[in-house]
Amino acid sequence: MAGVIQAVRGMNDVLPDEAPLWQHFEDVVREVFAHYGYRYLQVPLVESTPLFVRAIGEVTDVVEKEMYTFTDRLNGESLTLRPEATAGIVRAAIEHSLTYERPQRVWTAGPMFRHERPQKGRYRQFHQFDAEALGFAGPDVDVEQVVMLARLWRALDLDGITLHINSIGDPDERRAHRAALVEYFSLHANALDADSQRRLQTNPLRILDSKNPAMQTLIEGAPRLVDRLGQASREHFDGLQQGLADHGIEFTIDPRLVRGLDYYNRTVFEWMTDRLGAQATVAGGGRYDGLFEQLGGKPTPACGFAIGSERIILLLQSAGRTVVDVPDAYVVHAGEQAARLARSVAESLRDAGLAVVVNAGGGSFKSQMKRADASGARYALIVGENEAAANRVAVKSLRGEGGQIDLAPDELATHLSSN
Ligand code: ATP
Ligand code: MG
Repeated sequence: MAGVIQAVRGMNDVLPDEAPLWQHFEDVVREVFAHYGYRYLQVPLVESTPLFVRAIGEVTDVVEKEMYTFTDRLNGESLTLRPEATAGIVRAAIEHSLTYERPQRVWTAGPMFRHERPQKGRYRQFHQFDAEALGFAGPDVDVEQVVMLARLWRALDLDGITLHINSIGDPDERRAHRAALVEYFSLHANALDADSQRRLQTNPLRILDSKNPAMQTLIEGAPRLVDRLGQASREHFDGLQQGLADHGIEFTIDPRLVRGLDYYNRTVFEWMTDRLGAQATVAGGGRYDGLFEQLGGKPTPACGFAIGSERIILLLQSAGRTVVDVPDAYVVHAGEQAARLARSVAESLRDAGLAVVVNAGGGSFKSQMKRADASGARYALIVGENEAAANRVAVKSLRGEGGQIDLAPDELATHLSSN
């Protein structure tokens, strides 16, 4: 016999018992986004590799080692499974002149792919909800996005998610800061790990993002960009903080918050939990005013964020949240005539908006009743030979008390809906 083929490491199935919680989460996100005027758009899972290299930056973990890149077998084009959604959305916005007449609030959702070491809360195929405000200079829209996420946590009844913000300034401020960082870290070159030594030459800002515990004290002492912001960036950052205060949203300014992708400027934010170990960030985002130009479009300020769906699901599960998705009725039947009545009764009930499962594949009365129980249905509808002959259906409550009553088919919908 052939061996069993398993799922690719780090890529998960969501099985039917787990799926209702996912769907609940997704429904809530969609509703909250809609209430802020964000409109859905869909972009491909596969884009040309240079899009991500240009958008995310060559010297980032994502581009250096996490992308699933392959060659199109016909034309040799290099393609990549999207590691994030912003690059694709901005590409689409430029390609279709989305922001030509007015700014746009948009969102998308779906799987992302990164070749990381799989662990709790970190997978190779994972899912994001992604919202982008395109053509807004902020900081009002930055505030709005954070407020929208705060509303989402409330709507999901999640607590313990805290907000961390920072400003990483504008490109010239970052250049000056970069020079200060290179000077600082060069003075301590022998305390740097191998990754950081390499980054010192290529992208010293990313040293601040290092997760190596041995590097933390050195990083604490590094020059802080937030102390060297120019006036415009300062005012933008003040506006963000004032707006959050107006909404009563608590935050911590974290001068070390730089985010993993290169395209951010000014506002960066992360919502974090202490319940998922090293996978602490459940949503992160910020402003990327330079990205449109970087991808060949017109200068267009923008701000966006992504929610890591798996991490939210883990939080919901650890809070003991369960969602079950069960049919209203399960129809048990025996005999040719009964099967016909069972099917037609089920169709009428579905017309009335009820979820009905008809036993398929035969089985004794006892085994059909077992399946009815296992389905979680509220009612078993029983059509035996006698019922079929009399055009009646026996209704048995499967939850708690309640005996069995006999109804005509056209009485069923009302009875099932009212109980
Ligand atoms: P991390 O620091 O945890 O690697 P990141 O900075 O790479 O996160 P982003 O690119 O900002 O993450 O993606 C936004 C969100 O997507 C993260 O905050 C996280 O919730 C989720 N996420 C990122 N990578 C993964 C992954 N490999 N598996 C599951 N969720 C992920
Ligand atoms: Mg990462």
